[in-house]
Amino acid sequence: MIAFCPTCGAKCEQRVPDRDDHMRAVCTACERVHYENPKIVVGSVATYEGRVLLCKRAIEPRLGFWTMPAGFMENGETTAEGARREAREEAGVEIEVGTLLGVYELTHVRQVMLVYRATLPGPELNPGVESLEARLFEPSEIPWDELAFPTVKWSLQYHAQVGSAETYPVHSNPGDERLPSSAPEGSSS
Ligand SMILES: [Zn+2]
Repeated sequence: MIAFCPTCGAKCEQRVPDRDDHMRAVCTACERVHYENPKIVVGSVATYEGRVLLCKRAIEPRLGFWTMPAGFMENGETTAEGARREAREEAGVEIEVGTLLGVYELTHVRQVMLVYRATLPGPELNPGVESLEARLFEPSEIPWDELAFPTVKWSLQYHAQVGSAETYPVHSNPGDERLPSSAPEGSSS
């Protein structure tokens, strides 16, 4: 919730503006309406010779748990560029982004996540400061009980299930599992 006006710093009130049907943060001084919309997360299930890339998180939330390279999209980049950047930042690799694996819509955390298939040019990894370790896992070695987020599990399961078949489903609020409450806002990965 936006408590103070990002433009002038005055207090905001929550109300439905004229000709609108949603509660908005409206500045009590300059009367600007500050819209809040879902954030876009981009990531990839990246493989090399059948092994899948996972990174052990060096940052909260979920420090010490394994994740695929993923994070919030930056302004000015495409979704594929975002997926490439995240792999570069978290695993030190230049992935080749392929087809879309799926879209995860998580309304409870106000996120839409696009997950691509990707391939690595080789087995060399060079994890950045956001990762304690980066590793390629055989499908049978995936640490299912040590994954950082449900979306990682869903993506890996779906990837194992469909392989390279080109389907692009939109998964709206899949499962009953929720992201850890510390995950949604403000985390960069
Ligand atoms: Zn204002």
